[in-house]
Amino acid sequence: MRLNGPCLFRIWLYPVLALVVPTPCGGCGDYLGPRQLLGYCSGCWDLIQPDRYDPQHPLQCAATPYAGLAREILLEAKFRGRPELFRPMGLRMAAICRFTGLDRGLDLVAAVPSHPFTLFRRGYNPARELARAVAGDLGLPLAGPALRRKFLHLAPLKKADREGRRLAAESAFVAPRGRFRRRRVLLIDDILTTGSTSRGCRSALLAAGASTVRVLVWGRTQAGAAGGRWPGRPL
Ligand SMILES: [Zn+2]
Repeated sequence: MRLNGPCLFRIWLYPVLALVVPTPCGGCGDYLGPRQLLGYCSGCWDLIQPDRYDPQHPLQCAATPYAGLAREILLEAKFRGRPELFRPMGLRMAAICRFTGLDRGLDLVAAVPSHPFTLFRRGYNPARELARAVAGDLGLPLAGPALRRKFLHLAPLKKADREGRRLAAESAFVAPRGRFRRRRVLLIDDILTTGSTSRGCRSALLAAGASTVRVLVWGRTQAGAAGGRWPGRPL
């Protein structure tokens, strides 16, 4: 689904207004210059640390740990009506994707789908907005809405045990049989926590014929953190 009216206002008119009315950086409070119209100054963007390498999951990586400013930026973009931030976030994800070699031999980019109710309420899918920026920067096509969340898949109750929530998340996605036949897919999401969501999407994509599914996210939470260090400076 495309961005709705208020989001377009944010993306196109907000930068113009910011030229006329200087706005402070959301991180350090310094006033933004004419080339820093993305809510945060370049110094604050540079403070975002790259994530650690996870040797147990070489086919997935995160641009950054989900903490501090990286967490704040995602919350701004996702819940506080700042979708213009998804593009610079996606560009950082694409940069780390190149550094790690995760982009080699890919055919297309797909996004973890939102539930239809959430999409209706918010007007956009954060994962898809990130995927659009990643796909554009990597020069890959962005998959359509073939991968979807089951409409009548009941969300687990809060009291459901952890294993029940995991199983529910892993069976919540579906894609038409053969739609991703022999495609090597880069799956995009905003947060990686336990990995249940990405596992569910990966299963649906493989069942639809995909030959490889790699996962790239903006932030990895502590629960999903692991392993050592990248063999160099990612960015
Ligand atoms: Zn700043």
